[in-house]
Amino acid sequence: MPELPEVETTRKLIEPFVLGQVIEAIDHEKNHRYTDLANVVGKRITELTRRGKYIIAHFEEPLEMIVHLGMTGGFRLQEGKHTRVTLKTAKGTVYFQDARKFGKWQVVPKGEYAALPTLHEMGPEPLSDDFKLEDFVKEMRHAGKVKPHLMSQKPVAGLGNIYADEALWHAQIHPEAVNLSEEQSTRLYHAIRQVIARAVEAGGSTLSDQTYAQLDGNPGYFQLDHVAYARDGKPCKRCGTPLEKYWLAQRGTHYCPTCQKL
Ligand SMILES: [Zn+2]
Repeated sequence: MPELPEVETTRKLIEPFVLGQVIEAIDHEKNHRYTDLANVVGKRITELTRRGKYIIAHFEEPLEMIVHLGMTGGFRLQEGKHTRVTLKTAKGTVYFQDARKFGKWQVVPKGEYAALPTLHEMGPEPLSDDFKLEDFVKEMRHAGKVKPHLMSQKPVAGLGNIYADEALWHAQIHPEAVNLSEEQSTRLYHAIRQVIARAVEAGGSTLSDQTYAQLDGNPGYFQLDHVAYARDGKPCKRCGTPLEKYWLAQRGTHYCPTCQKL
């Protein structure tokens, strides 16, 4: 599933095709995953932002078009067999492809996220000044199991399964640790910022299923730097112990039993 670095890479890649442009047409399958898109045809996109794992197009009118890539959604410059939405401007056409169809596009009045509770309750962006160490320490002091809590998007935005596993390995914290100490939270805070910054720079992670790619079809490269995710059975890059995998809150969780003790 695309997480912050993959969504940010996607945003940057489609920006030149849509920023400042009038949407000439949006064609899509008619179903509940694509809501009210006709409302923005003929309107100009003034800004293309990202919040957590959502891409948000802004208009001169008080409307927002919110795109969530779901499990397998992404943009291409050519139509493919899984193209679900086609967006046309004077600059060109971008095709949204989504094999497993969990992606969603919806147009809402500006800032009205009642139908989008995750977006509504989302914590600060990890690379912004709003993500403050002091607040994070306070938040994590009384939090439940750390990995599911990170993935809730409430303490900080944008982390899913990959980047939660990666950040916890770097911070040497067990995925089920609760009520983190100030020292643990401080390590985790810096690990999150570092992992996300590096992954954005590398264009995100393309996994073995190959569903995530950049606009031109090239992969991201951060998977080459993974130290925890999908490395079960391989030696820990810090201590050499084989990493383990188990299921936590329905997600495959990878960690080092030596460096990340509960
Ligand atoms: Zn280790």
